[in-house]
Amino acid sequence: MNAAGYFDYNATTPLDPRVFAEMLPFFNDRFANPSSAYRQACDVLGAVENARKRVAGLVNADPSEILFTSGGTESDNLALFGAARRYKNIGRHLITSAVEHEALLAPCRQLQKEGFVLTVLPVDQDGLVDPDDLRRAIRKDTILISIMQANNETGVIQPVRELAALARAHGVAFHTDAVQALGKIPVNIAELGVDLLSLSTHKIYGPKGTGALYVKHDVALVPLLFGGGQEKKRRAGTENVAGIVGLGKAAELCREEIAAEAQRLGEWRDRLQNEIGECIPETRVNGDTPQRLANTLNVSFRGCDGGVLVAFLDGSGLALSSGSACSAKSRSPSHVLLAMGRSEGEAVEGLRISLGRFSSKQDLEKLLRELSQAVRRLRAEPNL
Ligand code: PLP
Repeated sequence: MNAAGYFDYNATTPLDPRVFAEMLPFFNDRFANPSSAYRQACDVLGAVENARKRVAGLVNADPSEILFTSGGTESDNLALFGAARRYKNIGRHLITSAVEHEALLAPCRQLQKEGFVLTVLPVDQDGLVDPDDLRRAIRKDTILISIMQANNETGVIQPVRELAALARAHGVAFHTDAVQALGKIPVNIAELGVDLLSLSTHKIYGPKGTGALYVKHDVALVPLLFGGGQEKKRRAGTENVAGIVGLGKAAELCREEIAAEAQRLGEWRDRLQNEIGECIPETRVNGDTPQRLANTLNVSFRGCDGGVLVAFLDGSGLALSSGSACSAKSRSPSHVLLAMGRSEGEAVEGLRISLGRFSSKQDLEKLLRELSQAVRRLRAEPNL
């Protein structure tokens, strides 16, 4: 694995060699279909169920409440479409926030086309949802509220516990997209009080194309996929066994290492933020609130397009994003920064620096050096 110069851990993480080692036998000897009836299959089924226990252990849920999916996008889609279709006879009103990931906003737009009514809550200049706004938005026909736990662009952490309590008090199901929160802050179902929660494996040093949805025992969803009876008929299709095993191992490593990792990355991020502020004039940190993931720094440099900075730094062997990875090539203003009250011009200036398990101090020093130079050059020659 070569993660030198990599500062885009919120886009994806390298596969941890310990996760890879645990997955390997499932590409070779342990290839049986977990639904089959012989010994080899039982062994593979055991590995799938062990992974389920490990994921449940990380988020303090019951293993029966963990449903494996193909990743965060599918988990978000299943939560939204599954709950909307299941509860549409009770009501057709959905609530979300303006800073959600596209994996959440796009299905919401589709549901609007199918006749559901959507309220999108604003955020303040730090990117936080105000629980009073949610209280006012809840209606008699509200069936689902979905607010992310931590934002992928800024790292800002929403008051999910308070928001979910409001939903519960009104008898409304609450979903949170915890894709960015998992492995960075504690994600504890019992403490959060949510009904549905999305996870993705490739953000926690596991493989791409796997994830999970926590579904509280008393919540029913209409499946997205129909076919065999896998996942207790909630998600048909032969399991991605190696991916699921990888998720289990990645979850276990998170559980063991989360506290020390967050402490180390938080110290490095804070130092980097201070040094950037000292070395580069006219910078602005987006989402500079204590409620922020320790690994994430979203910073704007006046007059510098974030996408151009990304290209400059790429030339120096440094990998960063100007917004979310999914919209990295679109060069349109960040909807997250716009929602935080930035102008269109300011919303293209964001640069996301996200640290992770394999970040090094040498890399951070190089980033500060190259970033200072790039900003100086871009400001001197704005038409570059
Ligand atoms: N939700 C958030 C907050 C994300 O950051 C991402 C990925 O960037 C997703 C959902 C989508 O997850 P996946 O890439 O596993 O489909």
